[in-house]
Amino acid sequence: MPLRSNWSDKACPIARSLDAFGDPWCLLLLREVFAGNRRYDGLKSRLGIADNILADRLKRLVEAGVLVRQPYGAGARPRAEYRLTAAGADALPVLHALAAWGDKHTASPTGLSMDVFCRACGQLAGSADLCAHCRRPLTPENVAWVRPNAPGQSVNLEGVAAVTDPDPSP
Ligand SMILES: [Zn+2]
Repeated sequence: MPLRSNWSDKACPIARSLDAFGDPWCLLLLREVFAGNRRYDGLKSRLGIADNILADRLKRLVEAGVLVRQPYGAGARPRAEYRLTAAGADALPVLHALAAWGDKHTASPTGLSMDVFCRACGQLAGSADLCAHCRRPLTPENVAWVRPNAPGQSVNLEGVAAVTDPDPSP
């Protein structure tokens, strides 16, 4: 029995997108990588996720072409970090839409919202994909988040991986 449904060949693009990253852990992993949390240990501690789930979801995101696994550092023990591909960066409005919906329709335990700033004009973006003030597209390069767990702390988002050669090691 398969572990999950395969929607990769559905006619509906929403279903195909959900097949690529429509899993709560996958979406939270994308959130973390956008916020600069690229490494396995950092992702594990931040999300409190079990090793087998984390490894599976990272593999799934790499296979879907959303993240790329890149080696870093020197030394005997190879290490890898996860960076956004162009396709991964294109998922940014999805996360913004989820944040806006959550702030509007669900109760926050702290009463704090997630603020998405357009760094091109310095204003609250006010929308998922285009800045409501200057109308520029919201891309990782011109967006900063202030997350409710770190109020007052602005995080410039990670851009697309500069080198897209995937790390061939498993
Ligand atoms: Zn703007």
